[in-house]
Amino acid sequence: MRKRRRETKMATVELERLNKRFGGFTALESLDLTIADGEFLVLLGPSGCGKSTTMRLVAGLEEPTGGEIRIGGRRVNDIPARDRDLAMVFQSYALYPHMTVGENIGYPLKVRGIAKAERQAQIRAAAEKVEMGHLLTRRPAELSGGQRQRVALARAIVRTPRLFLMDEPLSNLDAKLRTVMRAELKHLQRDLATTTIYVTHDQVEAMTLADRIVILNAAKIQQQGTPQEIYDRPANTFVASFIGSPPMNLIEGTVAEGRFHHPDGGVALASAPQGPAVLGVRPEDVTLAAPGEGDFTGKVYSSELLGDCTLLNVRVGDKLVAAKVGPQDGRDMDEPVGLRLAPGALHLFDGESGARIE
Ligand code: ATP
Repeated sequence: MRKRRRETKMATVELERLNKRFGGFTALESLDLTIADGEFLVLLGPSGCGKSTTMRLVAGLEEPTGGEIRIGGRRVNDIPARDRDLAMVFQSYALYPHMTVGENIGYPLKVRGIAKAERQAQIRAAAEKVEMGHLLTRRPAELSGGQRQRVALARAIVRTPRLFLMDEPLSNLDAKLRTVMRAELKHLQRDLATTTIYVTHDQVEAMTLADRIVILNAAKIQQQGTPQEIYDRPANTFVASFIGSPPMNLIEGTVAEGRFHHPDGGVALASAPQGPAVLGVRPEDVTLAAPGEGDFTGKVYSSELLGDCTLLNVRVGDKLVAAKVGPQDGRDMDEPVGLRLAPGALHLFDGESGARIE
């Protein structure tokens, strides 16, 4: 990778046919995943899809029901959590309230029996990385949420682990702070170049932080790829509806004779198999046309000015189709409109399986 390395601890992570059952319930099913050394991999998915379970298995906090976990090429299934050389940052970043910031950051070093002078130097370096060097003598109660979060991060980076596991580390912060911390995390990871597995259900966090995103749903990987690949070519309707804000419009209809048909409109398609299909188009690829013109007709359901654009929801049949239009293009409720879909920006999915059709 292009990233600078502070030291050379190889930490490729390989998950092979990883299974986890809780009683009769399958939380992870035959997961195959390789995370490259130095990569920032984001696990993204809805609540209950198995993200935290994957992390807990890598960390050694749960035992797999089947399959293998390798870190740095070595099987770690039977290695206890404390010997896996990884640092975890979880959403409840419990700091010791009676210790100062410096003592909190240095705690993992103290546990390892590192001498005081050496410890002080490492604490300072870690604290400076997260811009907390000036607050080393404060106690957690005297810090803001974001500052506490940064102390938790410093405590994780202080002992230069070969792998970071971060499970929704920003979820306790307010929206503004989350944005700031997101940028800081990205910088930090580029600096440290430590392999990172990061769990979130926030797609913006995933898109902005990840080298690669893995989308999980119902115990299985739905798609993996760079943020751009996943945004541009979602593998199925689940991924399509999970990435993008607002998400991609999905319109059910039928393909026949080179056209997608719907009772309230349709579009020409270059080549597509006949039969039930789902047409996908992102709100930014939908523009307004006069009523009766364009590809679809509908009635305005809502019109929201968001500052730099207007978000229109248009009722087409029994569905709402979202369109991101110009700030001046707001419409009245119930106004009839035509919708034009950008021809190069259409996605087509199988009507039954939901899988992308090439
Ligand atoms: P969230 O975003 O809500 O944290 P998640 O994707 O991290 O969700 P997991 O915590 O990995 O989800 O849980 C996956 C599934 O396994 C869930 O349906 C959960 O209820 C179940 N599960 C997790 N831990 C246990 C357990 N100890 N016993 C039984 N079921 C469990």
